Amino acid sequence: MTLSHFKKGDTVEIIAGKDKSKRGKVLEVHPKEQILIVEGINRVKKHMRPNPQLPTGGIILREAPLNWSKVMLVCPHCNKNTRIGIKVLSDRKVRVCKKCGEIIDET
Ligand SMILES: [Zn+2]
Repeated sequence: MTLSHFKKGDTVEIIAGKDKSKRGKVLEVHPKEQILIVEGINRVKKHMRPNPQLPTGGIILREAPLNWSKVMLVCPHCNKNTRIGIKVLSDRKVRVCKKCGEIIDET
């Protein structure tokens, strides 16, 4: 089993590719494929057929998935991009920032 270190709503920083050093909010996490979608990052043009939301069809901008290896979590405490550690406390597991050691949240 792969443990997902990223969560919906996390702020991440892009560390590779054309959006390098940009930050955004995680919209979707797909643990099986190890990809995620970040708001405003890695936008690609997509041709849409006409549909109820877009009656005339056309081109829309959509966020394309990014591989987990291309992003790092931004720690809400020290505001730096960091690796996530998992710490087991007596009754729960928490995610910790490897830079400042602060607890980010429960897993
Ligand atoms: Zn930190």
